[in-house]
Amino acid sequence: MISAIALVGAFALTGCTDSGAGSTEEAPVAEDVTFDEGTTMAALNEAGEITIGTKFDQPLFGLLGPDGTPVGFDVEIGKLIAAELGIDESGINWVETVSANREPFIQNGDVDLVVATYTINDTRKEVVSFAGPYYQAGQDLLVLTGNPDGITGPEDLADKAVCTVSGSTSEANIAEYTTNVITTDAYSNCLGPLRSGDVAAVTTDNVILAGLADQNAGEFEVVDAPFTEEPYGIGLALDDTEFRGFINDVLEASYEDGSWASAWEATAGSVLETPEPPAVDRY
Ligand code: GLU
Repeated sequence: MISAIALVGAFALTGCTDSGAGSTEEAPVAEDVTFDEGTTMAALNEAGEITIGTKFDQPLFGLLGPDGTPVGFDVEIGKLIAAELGIDESGINWVETVSANREPFIQNGDVDLVVATYTINDTRKEVVSFAGPYYQAGQDLLVLTGNPDGITGPEDLADKAVCTVSGSTSEANIAEYTTNVITTDAYSNCLGPLRSGDVAAVTTDNVILAGLADQNAGEFEVVDAPFTEEPYGIGLALDDTEFRGFINDVLEASYEDGSWASAWEATAGSVLETPEPPAVDRY
């Protein structure tokens, strides 16, 4: 478990103002890899294609770029996995997953993987499996610059409206503090109500809020008092144990060879300091 102090440390701003986060050098694609017959890895390798769900509206993690493909840390994690399956970037079909449709998209086979600021938890583990975690965030609050309501944490929201996304852990967690919650399907939709004063805060993971603040320079600030732990996992079909083990191996290798850190630096690293990667959990 990462401590609250470590979370705050991980969230420290780099002071770098270049937000033109793009992608890393193309990951070297594994050649001549072979996988046991009948595995998901063998099927994907044979097809030379993979479908990955990610967010399309979250700067730093998954944001649709001008060329129609998404950019961000989650996107880079997806590319690392595809490369180890012998699939190059042109073989990745990116699909937008919002918070509420991640489990059904995996269950229905609409996607092979979800890499989308997706918290690993026991409720979700009943219907999908998770590799990772590959990052740990914490839920926080976004307010107008200058924090006009003086909000220091979720306890200050009892008599105020807050905006978040349906189907997220953020929605479930904030319900403990206020019933005055407006929900939408994507966090970017919460910025209008925050600007207009219809809500006093937007709540979700600190790193998502940091990306939105950076994208709208000067308008918003993150309270920076995380009050939950959100370990990000890679969602896949329930009980595909071999595929999960393979992805966990890819993650651990990326921690060792520096490709995880390079992926961070090329994306979220434009705004956030490079954290230590969390230990994967082979549950
Ligand atoms: N990490 C949280 C979740 O998976 C909040 C962010 C999101 O909705 O993607 O629910």
